[in-house]
Amino acid sequence: MKARKNRKGLILVNTGDGKGKSTSSFGTIFRAAGWGLNICIIQFIKGQWQTGEQLAAKRFDNIDWYALGDGFTWDTKNPEQDIKTTMEIWEFAKEKIISKDYDVVLLDEINYCCDYGWLSGKEIADFLYEAKAPWMHIILSGRNAAPEVIAIADTVTEMKKIKHAFDKGINAEQGIEF
Ligand code: ATP
Ligand code: MG
Repeated sequence: MKARKNRKGLILVNTGDGKGKSTSSFGTIFRAAGWGLNICIIQFIKGQWQTGEQLAAKRFDNIDWYALGDGFTWDTKNPEQDIKTTMEIWEFAKEKIISKDYDVVLLDEINYCCDYGWLSGKEIADFLYEAKAPWMHIILSGRNAAPEVIAIADTVTEMKKIKHAFDKGINAEQGIEF
């Protein structure tokens, strides 16, 4: 693996209304982990269920996993609490990025927090522009990525839904959806 000084740290965004934003991000994480890079995963919105990706990550000693969301739902009843929680997670994420302990940091579902107005895309973009080490990779996932975040990213992918099993009433399937 190249030394940090020889790497080009990238900002990747996985967005769109189709399935695959988080799973693509985890695919990249496991690829990087295979090369021995130190990985930090911060989940801004905690799912209801234990996930296979979190269980898989436990098999690696170079992946640290922080599921910090309140488990808040899509239609939030308490926006003040959601903003407070989001800002706490964002402060935590900033510390991890500044610490330079990690080669790759995944901010899973952070885009939703901008979409809901809990965290500004400009704040994220300004911080990454100033504070991200040149060798550090950052991945941001979630629907409706903020334009400011898209503007500073190197690679942006929009997952486009053609079909989703959910539309046929098929429930979330273990091993595929979580
Ligand atoms: P995945 O984690 O499977 O890559 P995702 O990160 O792209 O999905 P999210 O918006 O985070 O999608 O949604 C999480 C859950 O919702 C997943 O179980 C996913 O399969 C499901 N999902 C994603 N896109 C759609 C859609 N268009 N319609 C219904 N359910 C969806
Ligand atoms: Mg997701």
